[in-house]
Amino acid sequence: VNTIGVLTSGGDASGMNAAIRAVVRKAIYNGKKVKGIYRGYSGLLNEEIRDLTARDVSDTISRGGTILGTARCSEFRTEEGQKLGAEICRKHGIEGLVVIGGDGSFAGAQKLAGLGINTIGVPGTIDLDIACTEYTIGFDTAINTAMEAIDKVRDTSTSHERCSIIEVMGRQAGYIALYCGIANGAEDILVPEKYDFDEQKLINNILKNRKRGKKHHIIINAEGIGHSTSMARRIEAATGVETRATILGHMQRGGSPTCKDRVYASMMGAYAVDLLCAGKTNRVVGYRHGDFTDFDIDEALAMQKELPEYMWEVAYALSV
Ligand code: ATP
Repeated sequence: VNTIGVLTSGGDASGMNAAIRAVVRKAIYNGKKVKGIYRGYSGLLNEEIRDLTARDVSDTISRGGTILGTARCSEFRTEEGQKLGAEICRKHGIEGLVVIGGDGSFAGAQKLAGLGINTIGVPGTIDLDIACTEYTIGFDTAINTAMEAIDKVRDTSTSHERCSIIEVMGRQAGYIALYCGIANGAEDILVPEKYDFDEQKLINNILKNRKRGKKHHIIINAEGIGHSTSMARRIEAATGVETRATILGHMQRGGSPTCKDRVYASMMGAYAVDLLCAGKTNRVVGYRHGDFTDFDIDEALAMQKELPEYMWEVAYALSV
């Protein structure tokens, strides 16, 4: 390949800029040209494509979000959309493409690979919900942001002897909730993989902890499990313990990436370029057992991931 395209797709995540920068600079280092595709697959179909130089990515490694912008694009789910996308790549001389995003974005990349565009996926999502990899771009920044915010809520929760429900992101995957559950010493963690919607268990646990002399009760709730504010009202009515809900929301997606997100995103972006330069296509970059590696997209999309059971057990063991 002589020209490599790069796009970000799906939800944004801190560290995407570090990955874009690495793609641009490693490609140039390898003697290739680079084109940036703006607004994900939507921008591809609208030909929002510009040449990128090494200078275009100056001062971006420390910035959250994505300088290329991101979007969801329903037209790209159709065969016509995918064919048009491949034609536009060819028209612009893009022979290799790096797609930074989640599983949905990889499904799009897989279609382009099938249409003759050499395509590599790089895992970018704060949720860590990509089965082939133990690391995804943005997760580390998100958990550090959430952890700091939960610390602050905990201080006031203790002072007022309240119960606090803190809602973190992760509609389909409870990794942020589990990590913060351990990092913040939560009394309860509600994750989609485990939650059985039995509020009575929560109520019993709050009452038990009060008897043990605990001054606060922190419940970390993954987004999508019930409605935190009304759950707080029901818990307060049942326990007599003042209960408040805090929804952290989009603050978890943004902000300057942590060192880990900058370094791993840089490594993955560079690795994706090296795969393209080696003539590879239909691959996803991953991190497993301490190494950067790659998988066939078809196999990666078929893999399943479960919440680590031992971490879950320890989180509860440490909350006594
Ligand atoms: P996140 O983890 O943030 O949800 P994602 O990459 O999984 O990231 P999606 O919204 O699922 O986010 O997908 C992003 C875009 O990828 C979609 O808007 C669509 O354009 C494209 N896409 C998703 N699924 C497919 C598919 N099966 N075939 C072709 N394109 C797809």
